[in-house]
Amino acid sequence: MTEKFYIITHGCQMNKCDSELLASILTEHGYTSTDEVDDADVILINTCSVRDTAERKILGRLERFKAVKQERPELILGVCGCMAQSWGKELMDKYPHVDIILGTGRLSELPRLIRKCRELGKSAVDISEEPSEIEIDNTMRESSVTAWVNIMYGCNNFCSYCIVPYVRGRERSRSSGSILQEIKKLDESGYREVTLLGQNVNSYGLDTGENVDFADLLVMVDRETHNIKRIRFTTSHPKDVPQKLINALGDLPKICNNFHLPAQAGSNKILKLMNRGYTREYYFKLVDKLRDKVPDIAITTDLIVGFPGETEEDFQDTLDLVQRVQFDVGFCFRYSPRRDTPAATMEGQLPEEVKMRRLHELLEIQDEISVAKNAAYVGTVHEVLVEKVNPRDDLQISGRTSTNKIVFFNGSEELIGHFVNVRIVGSGNWSLRGEMIKEGENADLYEKV
Ligand code: SF4
Repeated sequence: MTEKFYIITHGCQMNKCDSELLASILTEHGYTSTDEVDDADVILINTCSVRDTAERKILGRLERFKAVKQERPELILGVCGCMAQSWGKELMDKYPHVDIILGTGRLSELPRLIRKCRELGKSAVDISEEPSEIEIDNTMRESSVTAWVNIMYGCNNFCSYCIVPYVRGRERSRSSGSILQEIKKLDESGYREVTLLGQNVNSYGLDTGENVDFADLLVMVDRETHNIKRIRFTTSHPKDVPQKLINALGDLPKICNNFHLPAQAGSNKILKLMNRGYTREYYFKLVDKLRDKVPDIAITTDLIVGFPGETEEDFQDTLDLVQRVQFDVGFCFRYSPRRDTPAATMEGQLPEEVKMRRLHELLEIQDEISVAKNAAYVGTVHEVLVEKVNPRDDLQISGRTSTNKIVFFNGSEELIGHFVNVRIVGSGNWSLRGEMIKEGENADLYEKV
């Protein structure tokens, strides 16, 4: 009888992409996936360490699994992802009912560790920093329309608050050949959109010796795909966005009109303490360059309030940056110290209530901007790539504009994977409501392969 697995994913797109890889690796080793956690023989929790709220949630989940393991001792409980890498064996000491700890670069070792647990009845830890080779024929993907493709792993930037370089290691780019091979396969299977993933895609290719940088890679993907009509990417660090990439945004038809540009703070003093490598003045110029090249580009950002040493004046600089740039979406967080990072031991750590107050103030301003930005879409027509049926209303489908706005509108399941023209009739702060333009009017509706 084949064993069944269930994967719980926390965190960013990188983790979602890793979960798809883990599912594919297990499937190629004869396991089958299940949608029922109670039905699983192997449960994996893919964890995130970026913020303490995420870690606390995961620790709570692990605690709750204690009773499940008591009832079903044959169940294998594994922890992978950033927390597994950063906590290592400590996690197992704290939660002895965990059977496997798998590091971020060791995904392909999972079947071996499961076998080891089953055969020896012992727990297994592999958090080696040596990346293991992943060889899979088919990646199991959550969507049949849009796909994530990792183009590089790790980060060299060491922003002072961030744990990622410690848990994901130094930058390693995949060869352009292997990325294109994966994307061509997606193209042939009828995918319509790809998102290229890296902690900082601007440094793609620096270590491959191929003389192919990120903008070159975008040109290749744009040229060599037919069914794929949209290309997205994340994340591009503001400190080193090259003009060549900005030009590619304007010149390549498939690159979507949205850019995630994490500002993190608006005060030069705090940006320096964060080791971000740019000033607010530089950031403003960069935003201008992007908007000069692509006037209707939607710019989104990440912001942290309450960083150590942040005065009221520094915080006002962040609010001022937000007002000046007018981001479509701002993902706002209060600073939380991460183990082993320089910021965790900096002087001037702020009380929680100050962080919370600043966060609420920032959210209020950003929400108002997001609401106004979305309201400006009402009455306009956009090409939407249909992705799914609205889980709350099966008469509705949803998809995204090139600017990455989610649009809900009446339509049938058969339109999934199609591009349709939609008139926007309503808006909120996270999504838009639309009406599909009737056939005939919808002249440039693409055929789905
Ligand atoms: S660029 Fe900075 S914030 Fe982003 S992953 Fe690297 S260290 Fe973390």
